[in-house]
Amino acid sequence: MSKANPTLQELSCADDYDPNSMPVPKARELIARFLSPIGTIERVSVRAALGRVLAADVISPVDVPSNDNSAMDGYALRHADLSAGGKTTLKVTGSSFAGAPYKGKVGAGEAVRIMTGGVVPEGADTIVMQEHAEAKDGAVTVGGGHKKGQNLRKAGEDLQRGQPALRRGQPLRPAEIGLVASLGIAEVAVYRRLRVAFFSTGDELVSIGSPLGEGQIYDSNRYTLYGMLVRMGFDIIDMGVVRDDPKMLEAAFREAAAVADVVITSGGVSVGEADFVKDLLNKLGEVVFWKIAMKPGRPLAYGKIGNAHFFGLPGNPVSVMVTFYQFVRDALLKLAGRDPIEPLPTFQVPCTSTLKKAPGRTEFQRGILSRDTAGNLSVKVTGEQGSGILRSMSEANCFIILPTEQGNVTPGTLVEVQVMEGVI
Ligand code: AMP
Ligand code: MG
Repeated sequence: MSKANPTLQELSCADDYDPNSMPVPKARELIARFLSPIGTIERVSVRAALGRVLAADVISPVDVPSNDNSAMDGYALRHADLSAGGKTTLKVTGSSFAGAPYKGKVGAGEAVRIMTGGVVPEGADTIVMQEHAEAKDGAVTVGGGHKKGQNLRKAGEDLQRGQPALRRGQPLRPAEIGLVASLGIAEVAVYRRLRVAFFSTGDELVSIGSPLGEGQIYDSNRYTLYGMLVRMGFDIIDMGVVRDDPKMLEAAFREAAAVADVVITSGGVSVGEADFVKDLLNKLGEVVFWKIAMKPGRPLAYGKIGNAHFFGLPGNPVSVMVTFYQFVRDALLKLAGRDPIEPLPTFQVPCTSTLKKAPGRTEFQRGILSRDTAGNLSVKVTGEQGSGILRSMSEANCFIILPTEQGNVTPGTLVEVQVMEGVI
């Protein structure tokens, strides 16, 4: 653990630290104190950089645009030649097309036919669009009222040589790889992909492909975790199901922490099971267990095992997804080098359902956001909200976030929603 970071023990001694009822923002803030981007940087080609995070500023080696050029199809001319009120006729001496510039200089009484992107020839300072010009017999006639410099894109207007075009911490999306290419840059420095190892814990879990015995269930958490992690662009190490057995768990924790930047587990952190895993984790690293004042997803463990960050998520399938999106996502983005980290966006809409909600904890109910025929947005809750009902996540396209102090919600009340569709 780096010296700049507080130890988990120091945190647990802080005045407002209550591990049995940790407010959501507090837990986020505590976790954030332990995170800094992984150090390893690699150089990759522009296309391979898609989905990666820049590890160094991209400095523009050129002015963008590189020359003064035309924003319109029309005529390049000297503003001083135009008569203020009436019409002016100029001799058309040639053309400047994108990629085929005019070689000469525009003299007094002259104009050059120019197309969008064409380099503005020397001498010209203004572009008159073709719709405002009348061409006839090698000459062009334009009216008055044109502004000097109009329709002209100046060299370096978008970006000046030597200036940062993109900043460290920026994710490389299609726009960014296009921008890098537009500067003629073939390779960029990116952070190594974050390596995340995960496993499910539980004696009752069976992997798909095997028949279910009595009291057994199929392991779904490894699949939601797989989906969430892969969609975020990380390298994953799926370590399967680990039995509730101290020896097997210890071996799994050690192996995971040795190969990954982050270890995520599900299950085994709720009351009754916690002590067992707790002792083990205290032996292997420094881990705190919190009961977060939230529903679903109350038990959560966070800490370090060796150099690896550890997140112990609850076992219930909905709790896994909620705690992942509310705590783990931002933490992983920070480790992966993203800066700044934009929280998932939220906004307020009327709720058409009656919601049961006890004050004292943040709730993340699963909602369906829709538009009525008049185009107005509203949200309704999906059916049963039990933390084992994964279907509620599948039916939902948003979380309805009900803050700590909120009680029951009556139809028509404004509630905060966080969109999942296209984001999660
Ligand atoms: P636990 O936190 O281990 O007590 O688990 C809480 C609940 O989640 C129990 O009903 C478990 O059977 C269930 N559960 C735990 N892990 C998984 C998993 N990987 N897939 C589906 N359900 C699980
Ligand atoms: Mg369990």
